[in-house]
Amino acid sequence: MTDEILPAIAGEILTGEAALSVAGKDWGNLIHTRPGLVVRPASVTDVAVVLRFAAARELPVAARGAGHSPYGQGQVEGGILLDMTSLPPRRVVTGDVVSVDAGARWREVLETTLPHGLAPPVLTDYLELTVAGTLVVGGIGGATHHHGTQTDGVVELEVVTGAGEVLTCSRENEEDLFDAVLGGLGQCAVITRATLRLSPAPARARRWKLYYDSLPAFLADQRAVVRDGRFDYVEGQLIPVGDGWRYMLEAVAYYSPPAGPDEDALLDSLGFGESEDEDTGYFDFLNRMADGEAALRAEGSWFHPHPWLNVFLTDDTVERFVAETLAATGEPELGATGLVLLYPVRNDRLKTPLFTVPPGEISWLFSPLRVGSPRDPLHNARLLELNVDLYRKARELDGKVYPSNALPMSTEDWRAHFGDAWPKLADAKARYAPGNLLNPGQCLRVP
Ligand SMILES: Cc1cc2nc3c(=O)[nH]c(=O)nc-3n(C[C@H](O)[C@H](O)[C@H](O)COP(=O)(O)OP(=O)(O)OC[C@H]3O[C@@H](n4cnc5c(N)ncnc54)[C@H](O)[C@@H]3O)c2cc1C
Repeated sequence: MTDEILPAIAGEILTGEAALSVAGKDWGNLIHTRPGLVVRPASVTDVAVVLRFAAARELPVAARGAGHSPYGQGQVEGGILLDMTSLPPRRVVTGDVVSVDAGARWREVLETTLPHGLAPPVLTDYLELTVAGTLVVGGIGGATHHHGTQTDGVVELEVVTGAGEVLTCSRENEEDLFDAVLGGLGQCAVITRATLRLSPAPARARRWKLYYDSLPAFLADQRAVVRDGRFDYVEGQLIPVGDGWRYMLEAVAYYSPPAGPDEDALLDSLGFGESEDEDTGYFDFLNRMADGEAALRAEGSWFHPHPWLNVFLTDDTVERFVAETLAATGEPELGATGLVLLYPVRNDRLKTPLFTVPPGEISWLFSPLRVGSPRDPLHNARLLELNVDLYRKARELDGKVYPSNALPMSTEDWRAHFGDAWPKLADAKARYAPGNLLNPGQCLRVP
């Protein structure tokens, strides 16, 4: 760190043990690098002051949202950590858009928009992630097969470039920067505000859990329902049972009474066995992870290492890839509270240039969400090796990562991942954030 003192800012500068140690932790609990100091900016001006100060002294800077990265993506060794959740909450709905501070959590965005009868069309399964934290990776969920990623719903961004310049960008203005920030792993700029498109919010959600014993039948029905778009939300989970697996298609129809969903039409021709359904308010459905979080916090595994992997597979390879992976996956590989997600998205709905999926009509998000051991680093290292093996195997089959993983990535890996979009990202990074100083935890460097 530098001996020079940061210019005065309105926000806080923290150098105490508690702040530095929190900054060196994240959801993955696998990488622990500590910054030299933590800044809690009170305004975009504070962010610009910090970035200009750091650029002039070649100090690395990382922005941190909710800290739910799995592998140190929001950490920085010895540099400055910007805690973006300290930006004052300024959340304004105008017509069918909302403008929010970038450190707002998606739950807080909903708390702002729902009183207006509006909501972002795509939400992550967990609402305690920040807006900027998901916009730099994409942001996907059960509505992605209709509306694309959260980045596809962004109208405008206010950012501070790595060089410390405050800019507003959109499809109409500074488009190259806009395209390099959305899904760009925080490599060109720190996002300070985002304007997001909203859709009318329904009142209620009817959720079906449809169970299958056959992987091909489960995949066929998932494929069919995302093609015909009959549900508003589609995801899926693979559940270990005895020495095999069971498959659960999770499908939701939103509605506002008095009209209700037409269950017969929605479930028509699907080949599931058992089923369950529940009916809740819309927000309660979106916030469904809150109870699970409380239970995992109480039980302890919320705080354990999380060597999570998210890969996108092609439609041609998904069945074999998943079957082979599941055959080699048991409790040691997944952890007692681990999960496996599998669901399709329609590639034609994905418009963000840097959001990269395999070729074809449909891509499948396959996510072994492993829970590691709080006491056994060797076990966790083995789980990371499993991730590396799966990633390599997926890549050979035209697969891509969803870029929030416990997976060591190199610049070469990122270049291969972004493919045709790489030159634009690399140019924008060299132009807006020269010196590879911004968000180094993503391990993406350009000359
Ligand atoms: C329980 C759980 C459930 C999840 N569910 C989903 C899901 O359903 N769908 C999905 O898409 N993802 C999901 N994720 C993954 C999640 O979207 C990513 O890990 C996301 O990056 C975390 O956001 P965060 O606010 O915690 O950001 P952090 O972990 O704090 O940061 C993530 C990255 O963004 C950068 N960053 C943070 N703020 C800014 C900023 N203001 N400007 C520029 N860069 C910034 C950081 O430097 C870092 O590189 C889930 C994660 C968890 C732990």
